[in-house]
Amino acid sequence: GPAPESDAEARAWLSKHDRGFRHFIGGQWVNGKSHFDTLEPATAKVLAKLSQGSNSDIDAAVKAARKAQAGWAKLGGHGRARYLYALARLIQRHARLFAVIESLDNGKTIRETRDLDVPLAARHFYYHAGWAQLQETEFADYQPVGVVGQVIPWNFPFLMFAWKVAPALALGNTVVLKPAEFTSLSALFFAELAEQAGLPPGVLNIVTGDGDTGAALVKHKDVDKIAFTGSTEVGRLIRKETAGTGKSLTLELGGKSPYIVFDDADIDGAIEGLVDAIWFNQGQVCCAGSRLLVQEGIAEDFIARLKARMAKLRVGSPLDKAVDMGAIVDKVQLERISALVKQGIAEGAQCYQSPGAATDKGFFYPPTLLTNVHPASTVAREEIFGPVLVTMTFRTPDEAVMLANNTRYGLAASVWSETIGLALDIAPKLQAGVVWVNSTNLFDASAGFGGYRESGFGREGGREGAYEYLKLKAWAKRKARPAS
Ligand code: NAD
Repeated sequence: GPAPESDAEARAWLSKHDRGFRHFIGGQWVNGKSHFDTLEPATAKVLAKLSQGSNSDIDAAVKAARKAQAGWAKLGGHGRARYLYALARLIQRHARLFAVIESLDNGKTIRETRDLDVPLAARHFYYHAGWAQLQETEFADYQPVGVVGQVIPWNFPFLMFAWKVAPALALGNTVVLKPAEFTSLSALFFAELAEQAGLPPGVLNIVTGDGDTGAALVKHKDVDKIAFTGSTEVGRLIRKETAGTGKSLTLELGGKSPYIVFDDADIDGAIEGLVDAIWFNQGQVCCAGSRLLVQEGIAEDFIARLKARMAKLRVGSPLDKAVDMGAIVDKVQLERISALVKQGIAEGAQCYQSPGAATDKGFFYPPTLLTNVHPASTVAREEIFGPVLVTMTFRTPDEAVMLANNTRYGLAASVWSETIGLALDIAPKLQAGVVWVNSTNLFDASAGFGGYRESGFGREGGREGAYEYLKLKAWAKRKARPAS
């Protein structure tokens, strides 16, 4: 196979920071009063030392963002677009380094970071530069929200960063962002590039740390909006915390998305789609197609072919270009996946795991399939957030819709059928923010992404995503008094 991606440049960058990474506040690198280690999931060894953000770090960052906001807004759409284009080009220029940093930090494969995470992050900056340029004409009656606090998860560290930061900055807001504690490195590397691009101090502030740091940002009195992506539990806490304040809020939360295969589907296509839906990024995807609903008549054959395909999936070092699945982000997450699978088996499911995934160092878990799953069982209801597919069968289209909607979530859904009339009949009945027909995991900066029900509210990307960072200003001008 091809040689593994070299990590030399990334290791050199890390060793420049071996005394500990700092926060980026008001254009300065500020050392935290305390630090914590972040591990490399593929080896379980310490990768970097990060600053733990305190209440006073958050306060300093919010003050810097407040101070910068009026000037940033006054710069106008064209002025801001120039920075966003520059940042997009810098992402592209350093794409390889970004991809390796991300793979080391998160455990996801280099194929994904190189071909998806990093290019799509750049695209979000290009795309939103476009909205910035159109701001005065398209959004003439709108003003920026102001100072935005953003908290993001570890599963797509740099892509979630771009989804949050690009629209906020494009439309005249300033930002305090807290990356996930497991995966802060790509955000910090981006901050170095922002410095290079001459982004005005205070426009983008990054404070690293754990959930306490996130909570301090959410509670801060001078933040105008909170944009959060993460678990439904923490989303619920944040909603309570911001209720009764003037803060606006968008939440992108968990999912348990159905993947529906009708008996007339293109089976090879549906199986390849499924590999992407549930084993891409080790299944740590909010919109993962984690519930396979397959029509009864083809179920046995489909499962047999799926197992054969699973047996060919390669699990291993994220920097190996031939590997399909890397490491799970963290030990606690790995143990959670393993416990849920055990519970599924205890509740009557049959378990198939593809062979050859065992590695004694690092946090690896094999591609896993649970069949004979009861719709009321824990594994059918809870988001596992790992490489675990649960399977149920249905007889009729109505039953498929009923099973698909039998969840508190509503992020995404996939429908596979060669009868286009059937697919188009089903799609609007599915309670989900995005429905993919004969496809899965298609993302674009121009398409608003977000949830129904407990998957959250608000959209990221597209025109709808731009409105999340604006507030309407209705104008009225008194008629001039007639001269008397
Ligand atoms: P998490 O909720 O544990 O953590 C997310 C972020 O919130 C982290 O930065 C964390 O430090 C911070 N945080 C934790 N407690 C906090 C608190 N009390 N106040 C403020 N911030 C706090 O989620 P996770 O485990 O990092 O991410 C996985 C979850 O994210 C999954 O449920 C997944 O479905 C969801 N997710 C959703 C989307 C989407 O677009 N809908 C995208 C990616 C991930």
